[in-house]
Amino acid sequence: MSKIQMKTPLVEMDGDEMTRIIWQQIKDIIILPFVDLKTEYYDLGLENRERTKDQITLDSAEATKKYGVAVKCATITPNAARMPEYNLSQMWKSPNGTIRAALDGTVFRAPILVKGVTPYIPTWTKPITIARHAYGDVYKNVEMEVESGSTAELVVTKPDGSVEKSTIHEFKGDGIIQGLHNLDESIGSFARACFNFALDTKQDVWFSTKDTISKKYDHRFKDIFSEIFENEYKEKFEAAGITYFYTLIDDAVARVVRSNGGYIWACKNYDGDVMSDMVATAYGSLAMMTSVLVSPDGVYEYEAAHGTVQRHYYKYLKGEETSTNSVATLFAWSGALRKRGELDELPELIAFADKLEKAVIDTIESGIMTGDLYLISKLENKKKVNTTEFLEAVKSALDKK
Ligand code: NAP
Ligand code: MG
Repeated sequence: MSKIQMKTPLVEMDGDEMTRIIWQQIKDIIILPFVDLKTEYYDLGLENRERTKDQITLDSAEATKKYGVAVKCATITPNAARMPEYNLSQMWKSPNGTIRAALDGTVFRAPILVKGVTPYIPTWTKPITIARHAYGDVYKNVEMEVESGSTAELVVTKPDGSVEKSTIHEFKGDGIIQGLHNLDESIGSFARACFNFALDTKQDVWFSTKDTISKKYDHRFKDIFSEIFENEYKEKFEAAGITYFYTLIDDAVARVVRSNGGYIWACKNYDGDVMSDMVATAYGSLAMMTSVLVSPDGVYEYEAAHGTVQRHYYKYLKGEETSTNSVATLFAWSGALRKRGELDELPELIAFADKLEKAVIDTIESGIMTGDLYLISKLENKKKVNTTEFLEAVKSALDKK
C-alpha cells in the first residue's frame, strides 16, 4: 500500500513529559505507517526553550503564520518548582500565551463524545464548543485599595490634552476599586474568529455579555459583534444554514443547560475561563477535550486541552506502567491533518483524518480504554489498557478501515 502524500508541511511543535512520550508513539504507531508525513519540526520541550532562550517558541509561531496549520504537544509552563528541576535561567512564559499573542488568536475548545461516558447533563448529546476571548478585561486590570474618606474617579486624558472625568464612588468606609479595558480591534478579531469557525464547522454561534448592566463596556462587545455579523457574515450564514444569536450571560447559562449542545458559545475572557471548566467537567474528562487556536486571518493551531500529565510521566520514568489517555492529542493530529488536506485539496488526507477519529471512537466504544475513562465508562465489557496498548488498538481499528 502506498502512503498518503502531503503537499505542504505541518508545523509540528513537540512538548514535554508524558505527552512528549505519547507524541512520538502517535507518530510511530498511527501516522507514519499511513502518511508520508511532512512536518517542519520545532522542539518546544522546556530544555530546548531554555537552550534557545525561548526563541524556538517565537520561531514556531512565525512558521505557523507562514504555513497556516500547526499541531502542538502540551508543554510545561514553568513555575518555581521547575526552576531547579530544569536548571532554568528564567521562568519562561507560557508557550501557549506567546503563540496566542503572536497569532492574535481565539481558542475554541470542544469535547469528544463517546458512548458509555454520559455527560453530567445527560441531554448534552452534541458537543458545546466554548470560544474564549483571550484579551483584556479583568486579566489586564488595574486595582487599588481605597481608604475611607477618599473619592475615586475615572479620568481619561485625550490626545488633545482635554480630560474626561467621572466619579466612581465617594468612600465613607474602606474599599477597593478596579479599572478594566478592552480594544475594538481585539473584540473585532474575536468576532471574526468565531464567525469563521462557525462557517468552518457548520455550527450556530451564541454570544453572551451583561450589556443591560454594563451599558457602555459590554454593550460595545454586543455592537461590534452585531455590526461585523450584519456587514460580513449574514449572507454566508444564511447560505450555510446556521444562525448568530445574542443573549444575556445569565439567560445563556440557563439555555445552555437546557440545550442538546451542537453550537459555539462565544464568551468574554472571564466568562470563558469559568464556563470552559464547567463545560469540560460536565462532559466527563479533560483528557477528551480538544483545543484549536484560530487567528482572524485563518491560521490554525491544534492541541489537546490538558497539560503534560506530570504524575504519569514520573511513573513512566520509574519504569512503572502508565495508562494515559491519548485521545485529545490524537484529535489534535487528525484536526491538523484534515485542515492541511482541505487547504491543499488532498481528499485522501481528509479521509485519513476522518477514519482515524472514527477508529479512536470505535476502539473506546468497543470497550478498550485508558484508566481515566475506565473509571467513568458505563460500558459493561470495558477493559483497561496501558498507554501503548491503547494506541495499538486504535492502529488495528484503523487497519480495518
Ligand atoms: P494535567 O497535565 O492536565 O494533568 C492533571 C491531571 O489530570 C493528571 O494528573 C491526570 O489525573 C489527569 N489527566 C490530564 N490529562 C490526562 C490524560 N491525557 N490521561 C489521563 N489523565 C489525564 O495538568 P497538571 O498536572 O496540572 O500540569 C502539568 C503540566 O502541564 C504543568 O507544567 C502545566 O504548566 C502544563 N500545562 C500545559 C498545558 C498546555 O500546554 N496546553 C495546559 C495545562 C497545563 P490523575 O493524576 O488523577 O491520573
Ligand atoms: Mg481557568
